[in-house]
Amino acid sequence: MKKAVNWVLLIAFVVFCLDWAVLGVKLLDGSYEIQVEAFIGAVCWAVVIVCILLRLFSSRCPHCGKPTDPTGNYCPHCGKKLN
Ligand SMILES: [Zn+2]
Repeated sequence: MKKAVNWVLLIAFVVFCLDWAVLGVKLLDGSYEIQVEAFIGAVCWAVVIVCILLRLFSSRCPHCGKPTDPTGNYCPHCGKKLN
């Protein structure tokens, strides 16, 4: 579950960067037909925010199910390693 969120976050971030690169090239080229790029950018941004929120709220220990410190490698409740 957590790995899937990481992948979605990574993909959304990469697409967001590529989208902005295309958007920047279009703007520099004097083209203002950027509705599609703006839409893709907005969707990616929403996905990134949702993934970050999911990560914040889903940082629970896979062994005991208690909420954990997302920065730690070990569960403060049962002491087992977090994946
Ligand atoms: Zn635990």
